[in-house]
Amino acid sequence: MKKFELKSIVRPNIWELMPYSSARDEFTGNEGVFLDANENPFGDRNRYPDPHQRELKKALSSRNNIPVDNIFIGNGSDEVIDLVYRIFCEPSRDSVIICPPTYGMYEVSANINNVNIIRIPLDDEFELNTDLILAESAKCIFICSPNNPTGNNLKSIKEILDQFNGIVVVDEAYIDFSDSEGFMSTIDKYPNLIVMQTFSKAWALAKARVGVAYSNSDIIALMDKTKPPYNVSGFNQQEAINALLEPKKFEQRVDIILEQRNLLEKELYKLPFVKHIYPSDANFLLVKMSEASEIYKYLVSNKVIVRNRDTVIPGCIRITVGSPEENSRLIEVLQNY
Ligand SMILES: *Cc1c(COP(=O)(O)O)cnc(C)c1O
Repeated sequence: MKKFELKSIVRPNIWELMPYSSARDEFTGNEGVFLDANENPFGDRNRYPDPHQRELKKALSSRNNIPVDNIFIGNGSDEVIDLVYRIFCEPSRDSVIICPPTYGMYEVSANINNVNIIRIPLDDEFELNTDLILAESAKCIFICSPNNPTGNNLKSIKEILDQFNGIVVVDEAYIDFSDSEGFMSTIDKYPNLIVMQTFSKAWALAKARVGVAYSNSDIIALMDKTKPPYNVSGFNQQEAINALLEPKKFEQRVDIILEQRNLLEKELYKLPFVKHIYPSDANFLLVKMSEASEIYKYLVSNKVIVRNRDTVIPGCIRITVGSPEENSRLIEVLQNY
């Protein structure tokens, strides 16, 4: 990579931004008579949550062996995506590179922020078109690995990190279902890297909306000062902390899902209309079928809901790996098609 200077790619208004200083910023102790935040004195839900999510960050820090200063907590990964645009991309001027078929929020959020989208589709093997990407100039690129909806880990991320002259966001929402260890351990090596993870998938907490970003402390500080002060509710912080206190439960659930993924793949291949199942490093299978749209409608009419991806990848349906009972039901319904 050419010499990377953070200031040169951050929007000037964000670089200069003086963050809002909340009551909980100005006084951080736990004990006392708190008359500083216009809170209601009654009840047990009356206090604002920690705007810096210190306890949750500490728990993540010890689990992942990564300093607290390298961790950002968002209201789901979706908030992290939005912040990347707001911090780095000047509306109507700057561009982002997106590699479809991939997660739809990168585009939606770019459109909301009026950021120009450069689409460099994945190749026939669902791998990055590295040469085409590196020939473009853009403020940032979103790379999803394992990718949604194709399910594969992308191969040439290192090349992009070494040579792309902008922010590289690697979305690892599904990394816990994968053999790959991901890029979290390389945030010191690459000053332009942001790794996104989430509590929504392997941690079974989609309802809580807790997303995480790992990066160097300069980028994390920019995210912290740009976010709304109380972006993650106290209830949701606590849910994530509770989940981290039960790593065994987490591992057992992931193991069951992986076992079920293999079983589901075997059972699906026995069906005559299943043409291909793409190898998956995630908690879903991308399945090519004859008559995908008809089968999708048939499944819905039997109250089995999957994701029709026919318009994105012709003939394909994306099936989330469910519980053993849910997966059996899916197979049973499909056998009757
Ligand atoms: C599900 C998913 C997420 C999770 O988003 P949250 O806002 O954290 O729930 C992020 N990225 C991808 C690619 C996903 O599929």
